[in-house]
Amino acid sequence: MSFSLHGIGVSGGIAIGYAHLASSARVEVPQYMLAQKHIPDELERFDEAILATRAELEDLRSHIPANAPAELSAFLDMHLMFLGDSMIAEEPKRLIRETQCNAEWALAQQMEALVARFEEIDDAYLRSRQEDVVQVVQRVLKVLLGHPSHMPLDVDFDSERIFVAHELSPADMVIFKNVRFAAFITDLGGTTSHTAILARSMGLPSVMALHNARGLIRDHDLLIVDGRDGVVIINPDESVLAEYRLRQNQWRIDTDKLKRLKTSRSATLDGTPIELMANIELLEDLDAVKAAGAHGIGLFRSEFLFLNRSDLPSEEEQYESYKAVAKALDGKPVTIRTLDLGADKQAPWGHSVADNPALGLRAIRLCLAEPGLFLTQLRAILRASAHGRVRILIPMLASFAELRQTLQRIDEAKDSLRRDGLKFDEGIAVGGMIEVPAAALAAGFFAEQLDFLSIGTNDLIQYTLAIDRADDSVSHLYDPLHPAVLALIQQTIRACVKAGKPVSVCGEMAGDPLLTRLLLGLGLRIFSMHPASLLQVKQQVLRSHIEELTPAAQKLLKNTDPEKTASLLTRLNG
Ligand code: PEP
Ligand code: MG
Repeated sequence: MSFSLHGIGVSGGIAIGYAHLASSARVEVPQYMLAQKHIPDELERFDEAILATRAELEDLRSHIPANAPAELSAFLDMHLMFLGDSMIAEEPKRLIRETQCNAEWALAQQMEALVARFEEIDDAYLRSRQEDVVQVVQRVLKVLLGHPSHMPLDVDFDSERIFVAHELSPADMVIFKNVRFAAFITDLGGTTSHTAILARSMGLPSVMALHNARGLIRDHDLLIVDGRDGVVIINPDESVLAEYRLRQNQWRIDTDKLKRLKTSRSATLDGTPIELMANIELLEDLDAVKAAGAHGIGLFRSEFLFLNRSDLPSEEEQYESYKAVAKALDGKPVTIRTLDLGADKQAPWGHSVADNPALGLRAIRLCLAEPGLFLTQLRAILRASAHGRVRILIPMLASFAELRQTLQRIDEAKDSLRRDGLKFDEGIAVGGMIEVPAAALAAGFFAEQLDFLSIGTNDLIQYTLAIDRADDSVSHLYDPLHPAVLALIQQTIRACVKAGKPVSVCGEMAGDPLLTRLLLGLGLRIFSMHPASLLQVKQQVLRSHIEELTPAAQKLLKNTDPEKTASLLTRLNG
């Protein structure tokens, strides 16, 4: 039977393929049957994975860096205890023997059964320990997946598959980057959640907030995903399929055409140069940055180096990563944002999740509370500055005291490098993100104290309108065109112009071609976005005349009639 589901289209394009339902193991887990003669080998493979995981955790425990948060040691002890429990170390073997399934699948099934049991516990703290079970299982799964078993030849991993999940965290999406899928769809999630941002960066069509896709769709159902309109069609009939194949082709042609703009100068029709920079999460994104012809990196979300692991990246490891980016950009600016953990990007060793994590110990607040962690990162960034045009960007600044403390920590990091005789750029630029309304209202102060500002509209909208950006039940209220949001953006830009400091927007607004002209009209000249949207934005820039945009942007800024907003924007883009 054919039917359709409607959600929020978070990343454009059309994909046609077969449903692949996520297991809640969060690591992509294959399922296949084994011949009876391979069962002993499979049991041995499972035991070896448990032993390897134990060795890994013990190694981590004996090398806890001095600057690690106090929770890390207790966290590793608990994981070792779970790993030794027969529920994880023995029970999956019974499943392998009885159902002849592969070890990964048996372990994932057992994990789901355990998670369901935890769900029934009344005590909230004990119930939340299911997260640790999931993390331990994931660790074993990763070991198993690195050592595949006797996989039958008829398992087809190359066909177009569409990932169907109830929910995906940003950390899951990072794993997802290395597994080939044509699209992904989820029941939960908002348009500017980090999960959606990652989907966009991969250029994959995706639809979120479908509410019950995971329950209604079955493995291997044929799906059409229209990431622009937010529609998923399940088991379409021939005529619908033919129509979407045509649309898919057209989309591919349009995307190919845009590539011609890569080397053209980025300026408006009246000759105003516009800088188009890229946002990245991982080193793997660098190819896309080059393909888009970006002017530099306006936002490197460094916290992604800290996800999906229970140890901390050392100064040396971080330095190597930052240096690789600095060298690859060959003199173009590389803006490394210091750790923005907390809220929806929780490191496994992190502080316990607060009731209101977006308002809690997040970003710069977390770094100032963990001086050792912060010093390690600052030293790594500073050392990388000897290899390119590296800049430091501080997330979620709100108070003047925080800024003063942060600048002090940067000075301390510089002093420690001087004492160690290590090189860095003495004049490294330090910028701040304007993501909290208080910072936007006090932008003049921040602009004077810092070398540049970058407006994080994803959080600025979240905090101005009191809308959780990851919660789809309020996503209809998440409004980049709200006059209060536009006023804060304009105020920040004006403060920077007055102070003679550069300002960019690095939130998702910068990568939305429908908002390019509006931002130009508000005075913005530097945009930073995922490389996947850069050429579309450039196309808009090339068609724009600044003088015409300024009055039209002011109209939108002053508009208090929500019914008129869409038509004012259409006129601005016309
Ligand atoms: C933002 O808030 O707009 C931003 C760019 O930071 P992030 O999306 O990583 O929170
Ligand atoms: Mg932010």
